[in-house]
Amino acid sequence: MRPVAVVNPDLCDKRPVCPSMRFCPQKAISQKSEGRFFGGGLSIVDQSKCTGCGVCMRYCPRGAISLVSV
Ligand code: SF4
Repeated sequence: MRPVAVVNPDLCDKRPVCPSMRFCPQKAISQKSEGRFFGGGLSIVDQSKCTGCGVCMRYCPRGAISLVSV
């Protein structure tokens, strides 16, 4: 078992530049392209890269990220 970050799609506001994505030390977060003019999209965590450090949770302004055990 190890901790990994997950994004709640109902809380993620899909803003053009996800702050959690910018600060993830593992570059484990990407944003799904949703074809918007200003960019942005649902943030997605690559669990194979995530170390469960929790940095992303501190930067998400919507509290959309939590850690779970996998
Ligand atoms: S827990 Fe750490 S490694 Fe995992 S997505 Fe968040 S910032 Fe990146």
